[in-house]
Amino acid sequence: MATPSFDHDLFVIGGGSGGVRAARFAAQRGARVAMAESGRMGGTCVNVGCIPKKLYSYGAHYAEAFAESAGFGWRLPGAPTLDWDTLKANRAQEIARLNGIYEGLMTGAKVLRLQGHARLLDAHTVEVTLEGGGTQRHSARHILIATGGTPFVPDVPGREWIVTSDDMFDLPRFPRRLVVVGGGYIACEMASIFHGLGAQVTLLYRGAQILRGFDDEVRDFAAGEMRKHGVDIRTHADVARIEALGDARRVHLKDGSAIDADVVLYATGRRANTAGLGLDALGVRQSDNGAIEVDARFATSVPGIYAIGDVVGRMELTPVALAEGMALVDHLFGPPPGQPARTMDYAGIPTAVFTHPPIGTVGLTEQQAREQVGAIQVFRSDFKPLKHTLSGNTERTLTKLIVDAQTDRVLGLHMVGADAGEIVQGFAVALKCGATKAQLDATIGIHPTSAEEFVTLRQISRT
Ligand code: FAD
Ligand code: NDP
Repeated sequence: MATPSFDHDLFVIGGGSGGVRAARFAAQRGARVAMAESGRMGGTCVNVGCIPKKLYSYGAHYAEAFAESAGFGWRLPGAPTLDWDTLKANRAQEIARLNGIYEGLMTGAKVLRLQGHARLLDAHTVEVTLEGGGTQRHSARHILIATGGTPFVPDVPGREWIVTSDDMFDLPRFPRRLVVVGGGYIACEMASIFHGLGAQVTLLYRGAQILRGFDDEVRDFAAGEMRKHGVDIRTHADVARIEALGDARRVHLKDGSAIDADVVLYATGRRANTAGLGLDALGVRQSDNGAIEVDARFATSVPGIYAIGDVVGRMELTPVALAEGMALVDHLFGPPPGQPARTMDYAGIPTAVFTHPPIGTVGLTEQQAREQVGAIQVFRSDFKPLKHTLSGNTERTLTKLIVDAQTDRVLGLHMVGADAGEIVQGFAVALKCGATKAQLDATIGIHPTSAEEFVTLRQISRT
């Protein structure tokens, strides 16, 4: 039987973290690749996610740095003020630069770039509605859906008066009063960031404690520190409706109370972005929450169609989307010469929440370890970091290790405190290598740092 000929070996829908990585690596492997992106190159992470978020977090940290500097002898000429328009403009300039770099990666790899919305006509044909008008049809041996996610907002009365994280970076006016609904990554980060930038922030969470899924002690400690900084975290807080009062908003809670705000941010999760892709007609299976179902090799229920990244909803993190893209390329086009094909291992993926102070975590929570392993040893310490002996800041740092009592292997490592993401990244390598507590103990610390706590924790706190 003759092999059908296609315009491309791979057609990638979506130019975000996962799509760009897969397109570039496939092209480097000699595949003929095309990519359609309907928005700006780089996707969520570059345009409305990790990068602008971290830039604004840096910006917000200056507030405490100004306040702390007095203890180190600095005298400022007056009270510092934020020029929101300058921050926005500088961020926009940097993001535009990154958009250009991502475009350059595609042209450099000789990927055919189409600007427009793509939809699937069949398992090997994509139709792109081009931004400048008109449509094009392309056939491909493999089609990759890397269309990411989009904010989910529950059906609350007055939802037309709220904004999502997509809107936060470019708010026309800086919100003096901000209400954040949700208690996950985005809600907690945005609450910390906008509080640092100068807003009065109230965070409304429906459950007993924010950051469900993280280690319980970490959740309590982080919530306590955020409150100390001045974020008003209200738990068991359910929104009944939102009302517009001119430019202002009034959030009515189910307990009868109300909070006035300039902006109401809903950060209540994200859903797979599959609108208009034509998945139903093709029979591409999706789970109840809309995520595309894939197997270990990212194949969907329809042969020839693959999906990676947030649209499959396994772990919605940029490095995960990148790794999934590389694993898929190795599977479809073979690994780089002399190297084994990469597969995805979702165990021991480190993550950080860029709250103030930030959280860094890798491995099991204490609760997971008790359930999965049984006999564990918990080592923990909370302390005043050296910097704050002079800064006047009352912030404390938490370091915590969870160890398998039988094998001595470190199962989980958690930190709440300055630079937690930077510190935990390094320890994540050790955990990936199967580090034991004895090996951490045998490691000489770097003094004076907060990170050295992880190699000097000697006292078992509980078993
Ligand atoms: P995306 O990056 O979302 O890319 C999908 C692309 O597909 C988009 O550009 C979209 O325009 C395009 N597209 C969609 N449909 C079509 C179509 N039909 N035709 C053509 N193009 C289409 N992760 C971290 O690791 N660290 C962080 O600090 C972090 N912070 C975050 C902060 C926020 C506020 C948010 C929202 C997310 C954050 N994330 C973070 C998560 C991270 O951004 C995502 O996990 C990552 O971007 C997923 O990459 P992706 O390739 O799957 O999708
Ligand atoms: P999350 O899933 O982290 O959190 C969603 C929050 O909204 C939870 O607190 C949830 O409560 C609450 N919620 C859900 N539905 C409702 C509802 N109907 N009413 C009230 N509250 C509700 O999602 P995010 O949107 O914060 O972030 C999405 C993903 O993006 C993250 O999971 C993460 O993978 C990624 N991300 C990563 C970042 C990083 O790496 N630093 C930063 C930002 C995002 P409950 O817990 O009770 O379900």
